Amino acid sequence: MHPRSLLTLTLASLLFLLSCAPVPYTGRSRLLITSEQEELALGLKAYPQLIKEYKVIESGAEATMVHRILKRLAAQDSRQYSWEVKLLDAPKIANAWALPGGKMAVYTGLLAMTQNENGLAAVMGHEMGHAIARHSGERLSQEMVAKGILVGAQLSLDESQYQGEIMAALGVAYKLGAALPYSRAHEYEADEIGLILMVKAGYDPYESVRLWDRMAARAGSGTIEFFSTHPSSTNRARRLESLIPGIQAKYGPKASK
Ligand SMILES: [Zn+2]
Repeated sequence: MHPRSLLTLTLASLLFLLSCAPVPYTGRSRLLITSEQEELALGLKAYPQLIKEYKVIESGAEATMVHRILKRLAAQDSRQYSWEVKLLDAPKIANAWALPGGKMAVYTGLLAMTQNENGLAAVMGHEMGHAIARHSGERLSQEMVAKGILVGAQLSLDESQYQGEIMAALGVAYKLGAALPYSRAHEYEADEIGLILMVKAGYDPYESVRLWDRMAARAGSGTIEFFSTHPSSTNRARRLESLIPGIQAKYGPKASK
């Protein structure tokens, strides 16, 4: 084996060992090459760019509800993210997302789908689940390994170049992060974390089941952004339904602590 390849392999193995922190709540192990600080910085950078086309609704019953939900759900998690949500005036867009580090958006078009506070809490909890589980970081780590960015960066020994290369690669992907569908495994994991946050916050977790049943009934009737990146099916609703009793037993008000 060429010494350079050996060095690469050793570095990759070392990084793998160093970066296998399990996903909060679910305990799944995963590969993370990006640091949480890097992800957070990129989320902060992408946030104004992603929301700048829309008017932010600052007051009124809907904005108050969106902010209240975030406050209630975020209080259930111990991560020190700077959670923030903007309600964007976009009645034709039914979407919501959370960037790494906790910056979020809800488009007003989503509210007709979620129908009530529990329904919106289901979507927001799910999106927060993606952020808490660092799914963007995981996806980027996979891309970086696949593209050899890590290898080139590690061997360049030029700190500024290393940062620039990785940040450029990550920046592009993060910009897409709000629009790209996650894998099914990530979707299910975000569903589960979202339910946990809902139950801990005292929201009705069964509204997530009703929401996905509503979506399954609406399937094919036009473009709904959130639901085009979140495969809607009765299977998904049934899976959520099956998870709830266990989550209530473990995290609900009557759970033995
Ligand atoms: Zn999702």
